[in-house]
Amino acid sequence: MTERIDGGPRSVVVVGAGIVGLSTAWFLQERGIEVTVVDREGVAAGASWGNAGWISPALTIPLNQPSVLRYGLKSLFSRTAPLHIPLSADVGLLRFLTKFALNCRRSRTDQVIRANLPLNEECLEAYDVLIGNGVEAPRTDAAITALFENAGQAKELRRELQDMRDAGQHVEVTELSGPQLRERVPLAADAATVGLAVEHQRYVDPGHFVTALGRAVTERGAEIRELRVTDITHYRRQAAVHAFGGEMLTADAVVLATGAWLPDLTHRWVRAEVRAGRGYSFTVPVARPIPGPIYLPTQRVACTPYRDGLRVAGTMEFRGPDDPIDPARVRAVAESAAHLLDGVDWDRMHDVWVGPRPVTADGLPLIGRLDDGVFVAGGHGMWGLAHGPVTGRLLAEQISTGKQPDALRPFEPYR
Ligand SMILES: Cc1cc2nc3c(=O)[nH]c(=O)nc-3n(C[C@H](O)[C@H](O)[C@H](O)COP(=O)(O)OP(=O)(O)OC[C@H]3O[C@@H](n4cnc5c(N)ncnc54)[C@H](O)[C@@H]3O)c2cc1C
Repeated sequence: MTERIDGGPRSVVVVGAGIVGLSTAWFLQERGIEVTVVDREGVAAGASWGNAGWISPALTIPLNQPSVLRYGLKSLFSRTAPLHIPLSADVGLLRFLTKFALNCRRSRTDQVIRANLPLNEECLEAYDVLIGNGVEAPRTDAAITALFENAGQAKELRRELQDMRDAGQHVEVTELSGPQLRERVPLAADAATVGLAVEHQRYVDPGHFVTALGRAVTERGAEIRELRVTDITHYRRQAAVHAFGGEMLTADAVVLATGAWLPDLTHRWVRAEVRAGRGYSFTVPVARPIPGPIYLPTQRVACTPYRDGLRVAGTMEFRGPDDPIDPARVRAVAESAAHLLDGVDWDRMHDVWVGPRPVTADGLPLIGRLDDGVFVAGGHGMWGLAHGPVTGRLLAEQISTGKQPDALRPFEPYR
């Protein structure tokens, strides 16, 4: 490996131009490292485009929950349930889901919450650093308000938020009902009688943000190339990135940040248990202004102010990351949310999108060193937008200093 006098690499190729790869590229540049970014389709082509845009530390509730397992078993194989596993599930997916199910236990949930605390603590600040230093994208600080039909339905979220508090996460909640609820959530329908406003969270337009981040990385001297990477090897003491068509790029180090596609490139080193938990989103016009995001936990739907309308996001579908949109699932999201929201024109739905959340079997991302000059960053599941910039900052520190930051220990890829 070519090394500079202080021991760190001088050049890095980052594979994957989503929030995780581009954040890593930006923070590597901050440390004086020359970066090339490659993506098979360009900036924000994966999960980082049409997601709900929440940067919400208080709501980074792990997916690995006993309640998710109970719910998943009930809705198994239903085409319209918020959690969907196709009947054609292959052996690899069944093995993954078995591991995932074994990790849906209280002790694991607590472990994941605790591991995420340092990421939560710095996630808003990491965004501030990017925005304060040339990433031209707006962010909005707001409460995220959960709506329920009755107090019974709110119990599960209350308990999950208490688990977050018990682990040391700052969570501030305002209980809402009656006129106060309608004032804070003007789109709340009569059926919504209980609201929990989780205060001091943030949201962005994720596609806009990641595009601006890509622009900033380019302005700071990086090249962003459209190449499909097929393999990583070593060549003359450097990392070699092989692309479809035969091109090879070399650098002192390479970072694999290919989201739900990670196993295609990491299989040489770890059998990364990452699968695409696909989510859908679409945008609908609304009759009244929306002060902040709306969460429908029972329906597992997230709604965010988006341009002049509302972006509605939901479902978790375990299929191939490149499979086409299933219109039945889009309709299911709309139908499940409609009775709780008023003033939404569901017939004028547009920007229908599907994206693959990179879900791991144990609920933790893989961040760290795989081999000499080979690093991985991905598998953030439901919370990759929130945790992408802080991941990039910590991994850039590890790559340039050779020392694993304490905050990254739980995410060690060889755990
Ligand atoms: C409906 C929905 C709502 C969500 N809401 C939120 C939210 O509110 N807050 C939050 O924090 N998270 C949310 N998420 C999760 C978040 O979107 C993801 O965790 C995050 O975007 C993952 O980022 P990434 O950079 O790891 O992967 P991606 O954004 O998927 O990027 C991976 C990139 O790698 C490229 N690539 C893949 N293979 C190759 C290859 N062989 N060669 C070259 N390039 C390759 C792809 O083209 C892609 O651009 C949501 C996800 C969904 C689906």
